[in-house]
Amino acid sequence: MHHTFSDMTFCIRTFGCQMNKHDSERIAGMLEGLGALQVETSEEADMVVFMTCCVREAADVRLMGQVASLKNLPLREGAAIGRRIIAVGGCIGQRDGEKLTRELPHLDVVFGTHNLGSLPKLMERAIGGEGHQIEVLDSAETFPTDLPTAREHSWAAWLPITIGCNNFCSYCIVPYVRGREKSRSLEDVVAEAKAYVDAGVKEITLLGQNVNSYGRDLYGAPRFDDLLDAIDGTGIARLRFATSHPKDLTDGVIERFGTLRSLMPALHLPVQSGSDRILEAMNRRYTRDHYLELIAKLRKACPDIALSSDIIVGFPGETEKDFEDTYRLVEEVGYNQVFTFIYSKREGTPAASIEDSTPREVIQERFDRLVDLVQDKAWQSNQSDKGKTVEVLVEGASKRDSGILAGKSPKNQTVHAKVSAGQSAEDLAGSFVNVRVDEAKTWYLAGTVVDADEGARGSDGC
Ligand code: SF4
Repeated sequence: MHHTFSDMTFCIRTFGCQMNKHDSERIAGMLEGLGALQVETSEEADMVVFMTCCVREAADVRLMGQVASLKNLPLREGAAIGRRIIAVGGCIGQRDGEKLTRELPHLDVVFGTHNLGSLPKLMERAIGGEGHQIEVLDSAETFPTDLPTAREHSWAAWLPITIGCNNFCSYCIVPYVRGREKSRSLEDVVAEAKAYVDAGVKEITLLGQNVNSYGRDLYGAPRFDDLLDAIDGTGIARLRFATSHPKDLTDGVIERFGTLRSLMPALHLPVQSGSDRILEAMNRRYTRDHYLELIAKLRKACPDIALSSDIIVGFPGETEKDFEDTYRLVEEVGYNQVFTFIYSKREGTPAASIEDSTPREVIQERFDRLVDLVQDKAWQSNQSDKGKTVEVLVEGASKRDSGILAGKSPKNQTVHAKVSAGQSAEDLAGSFVNVRVDEAKTWYLAGTVVDADEGARGSDGC
């Protein structure tokens, strides 16, 4: 029997990827289900939970700093217990386990990526004065599907379909901390999607480290394209997914971009490098040509598809020629968006032992050159939408002006538009409006609402 947390408050600090954000929503759902109240700041919180990511080194430093700074933070007025309970979960919890409580003795709970469901029990023991609570499992026994979720927006849901990863890209720590890939059954995923549709959700994003290999661990099971069909069949208005490994993107999935009603015309397909030599050193298991072939097929299936990518600059041993190959690939593809990263070494990965003597300034110069190109290409891709009317799923008022709504187009572009007299951007959140695009900037489109069409979804994309 769990202690109820009914007089207690909690806040969650999330670092890293969407998978972590989703895990945070599940934790919020569990703690709320036990009566605790979610608050925004650590000052107001009796329990602070950190959901961490160890993909980038900066996250370790940030975590240490933030946990340390809680040590002397005064308790809120009327605090339910005499001290603040601090928990660290996610990748850093999984990787470092007990070591964390040695470095940060005022930390109460450490949990891993496979046992979110144990958090309330561990918190309860810590509150009961049972000392440091550390529980890190090697792998998940079953897919954790029965945890409640508190969603950030009522109209959008993230739906995990796989956990873990089998790929071992040489720079990546994920397979070591999230374990081998496990797929959730199609029935479970579809049942959750249906429940979301019934609850008024307009957009579902399927999540996995590599959604394209969905079902390969289940004998005779449906594959990712079958799953897309099944989710489309629930009547969801908008369907997206992340992340897609190029080596596993099948013709069946590509084809769905041209045929499935709900599948939005936008794909994040991380290339990481445009050089075959570096791709091999990264253990990505595709070539530049194969990647470009995929892009050609996608554009054939869905001519207006918006493409985005991740690129690492300065992988150990990257030469000027390798970088040029990446630069030319970005020129050729013309992405709507690219997330660029300077390589950072993660201990415990094979790439960490590759020696590299490339000066930091050279890598920085390459990075800056690439960012300039990415911005030019993003601006160029958006120009093709000028004058068009796009359907926007409204997220609320823009940060700068409450009379301007902000939302997302089918191609996942941010769209700003002035709301009509008598309407409030906040009230439109979660509904669809049509916006005529008057201006196309690098990172957003700006336009005018032409009619508000609650609940309906016009034809988009392909
Ligand atoms: S596909 Fe590669 S980069 Fe992505 S999580 Fe797996 S190992 Fe890491």
